[in-house]
Amino acid sequence: MKTSHHLIPRSRCEELGIINKNDKRNLKKINGKLHTTWHALFVNLTPYEVIQLLYMLYRFRQEDLFIMKNRDEWKILFGDMTLLEACKQIVREWTPPRSFYTPRFTTYEKEFQTFFSGLFKDFK
Ligand SMILES: [Zn+2]
Repeated sequence: MKTSHHLIPRSRCEELGIINKNDKRNLKKINGKLHTTWHALFVNLTPYEVIQLLYMLYRFRQEDLFIMKNRDEWKILFGDMTLLEACKQIVREWTPPRSFYTPRFTTYEKEFQTFFSGLFKDFK
């Protein structure tokens, strides 16, 4: 069954200054199981926050533990992908176009910003 997923979660739009959360650029049709699994694992994080979370896991060498602890969900969302591949997949499949929303990171370290913009350079 196809469901409608908000790439930037509905519940986060107001705080992020997004007026039209139902803009079609923010919506993606995905199958119900994939949708439920995304939110089971990442609740209402924005895709950018998910990438940051994964990056922090990578940086502190917790990625294997995280993937193992959540292996059913990981498999459904990302198959056999590594954490870095999953980040790229998130950029490809789970983020809205920049014309809809551009994330602003002000507090994160330079290393993360470099990592993050590298992901976008490849795919958007
Ligand atoms: Zn959703």
